[in-house]
Amino acid sequence: MIAPKTLKLSLKSLRDFAKKRLPDETLIELDARDECPLEIVRHMCSPDKLGIQLLFIPEEFGGMGGGAFDVYCICEEMARIDLGVATAVLATFLGSDPITVGATPEQKKLWLTRIAEEGVLFAYGATEPEAGSDLGALRTTADRVLQDGRIVGYKINGSKQWISNGGVADVYTVLANTPVGPSWFIVEKGAKGFSHDEPEDKHGIRLSNTAALAFNDVYVDADRLIGGVEGQGLNQAQAVFGYTRLMVAAFGLGAGWAALDRAIPYSTKRIQAGAPLSEKQGYTHKLIVPHVARLEAARSYIEETAERIDAGEGSLNTEGAIAKYMATEAGNLAADASIQALGGYGYTHEYMVEKISRDVRITTIYEGTSEIMEMTISRDRWQLHLKTRGQHYHEQAKKFEELHARHPKVGADNAALALHALAEVMEKARVARLTRYQHILLRLGEWIAYAECAGSLCRRAARLAEGKLSEKASRRFDAPALAALSRIFARDATLKVAEEGLRWVVGAGGMTDAELPAFEADLGLSAIHRAQAGLIADMDYIADVLYNRAAKPTALAA
Ligand SMILES: Cc1cc2nc3c(=O)[nH]c(=O)nc-3n(C[C@H](O)[C@H](O)[C@H](O)COP(=O)(O)OP(=O)(O)OC[C@H]3O[C@@H](n4cnc5c(N)ncnc54)[C@H](O)[C@@H]3O)c2cc1C
Repeated sequence: MIAPKTLKLSLKSLRDFAKKRLPDETLIELDARDECPLEIVRHMCSPDKLGIQLLFIPEEFGGMGGGAFDVYCICEEMARIDLGVATAVLATFLGSDPITVGATPEQKKLWLTRIAEEGVLFAYGATEPEAGSDLGALRTTADRVLQDGRIVGYKINGSKQWISNGGVADVYTVLANTPVGPSWFIVEKGAKGFSHDEPEDKHGIRLSNTAALAFNDVYVDADRLIGGVEGQGLNQAQAVFGYTRLMVAAFGLGAGWAALDRAIPYSTKRIQAGAPLSEKQGYTHKLIVPHVARLEAARSYIEETAERIDAGEGSLNTEGAIAKYMATEAGNLAADASIQALGGYGYTHEYMVEKISRDVRITTIYEGTSEIMEMTISRDRWQLHLKTRGQHYHEQAKKFEELHARHPKVGADNAALALHALAEVMEKARVARLTRYQHILLRLGEWIAYAECAGSLCRRAARLAEGKLSEKASRRFDAPALAALSRIFARDATLKVAEEGLRWVVGAGGMTDAELPAFEADLGLSAIHRAQAGLIADMDYIADVLYNRAAKPTALAA
């Protein structure tokens, strides 16, 4: 883990560098030219310049040994600058992951040291024309090359698609089928038979190079098989999903905030109907405040997951999926709302929110689409529901009732309502066998993500009030403001779980008319409706905080 002071310095260097080398005019120009600023990416990755790569390389290989929390902070900052450049840097994080988790000690030493000392750029080659979400369908092959009955190397044949840094990387990690199953291989640029296409002409992240790769009898020595054992590829990819999805979650968060940080000041200067837009409640409470609440709920989940990964709790794939799902969906919504917030100006290139909106769109697609995240979340928590005979989320809810007793202002009573309702919806889905409908299974993933994020934000608001938040945690809001954001989001989550849960249970034919009133009572619908009281006051308070017009906290204090 990196010391908080060092992390702060790294973030500051990154910001200063971006201010100097990537001002808006340059970003707009590169975006229009559809050009990856390779020299800038190399500068960011060079050990004697910005050296971002050093952060995630273990100290024993010449890096700084940053943990998940450190990498989240850096990823958020990079995304605030430009998501295309951030993707180019992330490609080395991703590309070297199979090495970090699965390589032999000799391979780790060789390749991780090269990243640290030479700043080599990686690309991560998993996706193929026929194998996207379903990586098991991959067709690229790696055939053994034998000498005297011994495997001395492999011949790789096939193709890869949508590979970030595909046309500019120095080293590629490539997933290919060996006789025993999918395995990762290291292929260097210039290898005979290896080529890449022209960069894709993309909707967004136009500052990142994305290209297809072709492998035509590409020979690699046996020591380029990561880990030295065939068939470990999918496990090695799985082993880091929690961590890598957290990075993309940080991208969604950073881009969403980058858009709002343009919309908020704009609205203080734009006068319509005799007053700045920032003073129009119908504007702030639709286009700004709900997005702030959603992004901060996602941040809370990212920070908790990063802390748990750093504490050695494993790869936390489901939590990574929840963080990615919530943060990237929230980032997209925030960017879209920011275009609306700037009106016609928002629709032009010059004001940047349009570019941010195009850029952030990728975050719900790469590293696992939102729908795959919903499925991942739902399947895992469904098992917990079954294992605990439907008590998992009721037990969680009780913890929030206890938290509410200690911290009555952080929205924990509402989070408890959401979690109880979730347990009821899941139980009804079990009894009526509704998960045979894929749509219900995926919707469950969404409701689970909302309810868990509501809980996470309550805990975070309570920790901030107690002065127990990590030194590295974002301090954008003080304790009363975070508590108000938590109350806003928890109300939202509660209503979503209960009303949408009810809708889809009924929609899937999960109950008779006669059973409906009892189910509505089990969901706690009337308590959930009553819990919406105070919503406008909380939103007013957050608008006041965002526009620096909040009176010193009084009754709202957590
Ligand atoms: C700009 C860019 C950069 C990328 N960088 C990389 C990279 O560096 N390395 C790399 O390996 N890959 C990369 N990718 C690929 C990316 O990870 C995939 O595009 C992504 O995983 C989705 O795969 P797909 O495009 O084949 O879509 P598909 O899997 O075909 O999905 C299409 C749609 O169907 C939905 N869907 C898929 N399966 C199901 C299902 N079972 N049930 C319900 N709905 C389903 C998806 O959610 C999606 O909405 C990149 C892609 C882009 C666009």
